[in-house]
Amino acid sequence: MSLLSNFERYPLTFGETHIEHLPRLSAALGGKVEIYAKREDCNSGLAMGGNKLRKLEYIVPDILASGADTLVSIGGVQSNHTRMVAAVAAKLGLKCRLVQESWVPHNDAVYDRVGNIQLSRLMGADSRIVDDGFDIGIRQSWEEALQEVKDAGGKPYGIPAGASMHKFGALGYVAFAEEVKKQEQELGFEFDYIVVCVVTGSTQAGMIVGFKPEGRSSRVIGIDASGTLAQTRAQVLEIAQNTSKLIGLESEITEEDVHINPDYAYPAYGIPSKETNDAMRLAAQTEAMITDPVYEGKSMQGLIDLVNKDYFPQGSKVLYVHLGGTPALNGYSYIYRNG
Ligand code: PLP
Repeated sequence: MSLLSNFERYPLTFGETHIEHLPRLSAALGGKVEIYAKREDCNSGLAMGGNKLRKLEYIVPDILASGADTLVSIGGVQSNHTRMVAAVAAKLGLKCRLVQESWVPHNDAVYDRVGNIQLSRLMGADSRIVDDGFDIGIRQSWEEALQEVKDAGGKPYGIPAGASMHKFGALGYVAFAEEVKKQEQELGFEFDYIVVCVVTGSTQAGMIVGFKPEGRSSRVIGIDASGTLAQTRAQVLEIAQNTSKLIGLESEITEEDVHINPDYAYPAYGIPSKETNDAMRLAAQTEAMITDPVYEGKSMQGLIDLVNKDYFPQGSKVLYVHLGGTPALNGYSYIYRNG
């Protein structure tokens, strides 16, 4: 029986996401392991989709029950999450107020006009840029935006950064784990490792909870892209523990269930290293799989480096989870002007 049978889900995605074998990438890394990708980046027709839609599917019933008329959320200027909140607002016929913080010290001339923020504005969101820097926690600017909506006579519904510190924020990725287990039965094998990017935490936290009954939580390797490891780690643990209580899981989530590798977040959140860019180029040139310099490029870099270092035993089957995020590429056109 599903771990989530007591929770309502409002469909925003196409359904199950595809698991794709990546033979040319596996071969380019010496054929030591077999790499597969789960394509969360292709999960919906809503504004280019991605991991946030899976999370929001379990939040929408609460939004509808609240009677709110305005969704209020927060992220960086090139936040994928705020794009997805804008998409959900458009789809539900609600208003949307977005606080876009200046998380990334990046000066591409059109950084604040292309990619995610452009799509959010196109969908009608009231998107306003503020000066505050990177922080994954609950923010004053977001609380102020909620108050502004109230002062103007509206009824806001607040969704924190990445939908992570929301009571239902991790349920979507509990469902993801159940989906992977079902797909493994169809494929006839189990994945030995799952590699996933982590920043605000509820994606990995949901997976940790979803794989807990089989003792597979620590086989989910989070690749940190936040550069603030202690805060991200603590947030993942807290969300996983709260979610496991919420769904009534018997065994307790502990520190040992949370595996996060901090080695690829350098030089900073939102800034790719040379190795990130090389990893993005390799995935693009072997598999036509496009990743972004903020999130998936860093988890791809981590995957490639861990294979090269023989972290995974020979013959392992590794599932790379592609969480989306490619619209942000447009904000980095100078770096990739020659490919
Ligand atoms: N990948 C992409 C494309 C994202 O937009 C995010 C959002 O922050 C992540 C990975 C990290 O997920 P989470 O914030 O749930 O840790």
